[in-house]
Amino acid sequence: MVAPDEELRVGLFGGTFDPVHQGHIDLALHVVIRCRLDGLLFIPALLPPHKQQPMASFAHRAAMIEAALADCQGIEGRICCSRIEARLPEPSYTNNTVQALIQEKGSCRYSLIIGADSLLDLPHWHRIEELLTLIDLIVIQREAIDAAAVARALAALHPPFSYHAGQERWQNQAGRTAVFLDDIALPVSSSAIREELARGLAPVFLPPPVLAYIRRHRLYGWQEPL
Ligand code: ATP
Repeated sequence: MVAPDEELRVGLFGGTFDPVHQGHIDLALHVVIRCRLDGLLFIPALLPPHKQQPMASFAHRAAMIEAALADCQGIEGRICCSRIEARLPEPSYTNNTVQALIQEKGSCRYSLIIGADSLLDLPHWHRIEELLTLIDLIVIQREAIDAAAVARALAALHPPFSYHAGQERWQNQAGRTAVFLDDIALPVSSSAIREELARGLAPVFLPPPVLAYIRRHRLYGWQEPL
């Protein structure tokens, strides 16, 4: 239980989720426990600004996240899907989303969860300086991006993060923190999964309710084997 005067700590996990995969789900579960978050929101982008346009509609991508979460044991409503970006202006800028959440939900402390690949892209995000005064960062190891590259990327942001060795985390002048989690890494991506589906394969890293949804709606070029 959180005392009434304590801020709730909420993780924001944004992405295209085209489709959501087991890497996303495991990562969310791991981060909630490891970072002692009170809750976590998956936030599918209506129209991602920095990536090619999604193949599946917003409604399908959100429904697949909800199907995957409904199948998870023990999260007791702490991990949910937010459809907030469906009613915000396009493209889906994270800064706008965070501002809208702050206005609607009040004084939570938000942590943005991003893969290390997205961290390298952060300097190009819309109003990133403002965003970095509003959220903490939880960076997840991905592919060949090592701790040294993550440290360089955090130090090069505006405002920059500097490392506090005793606390094993970075901090910027706005008092926002960043941590790097290198103990969870799954060799999986939505693009690899889309390719497998188009070839008629059932990807290993796809949660079963998500595969069932894709089959039912014939998404990603899926065709039932003869
Ligand atoms: P695509 O292959 O289409 O680029 P993706 O698998 O990277 O998709 P996104 O929806 O773009 O999925 O990911 C949302 C967020 O999750 C991003 O911050 C991304 O870095 C992170 N992420 C996705 N998959 C992993 C993974 N296997 N390990 C760590 N982070 C991941």
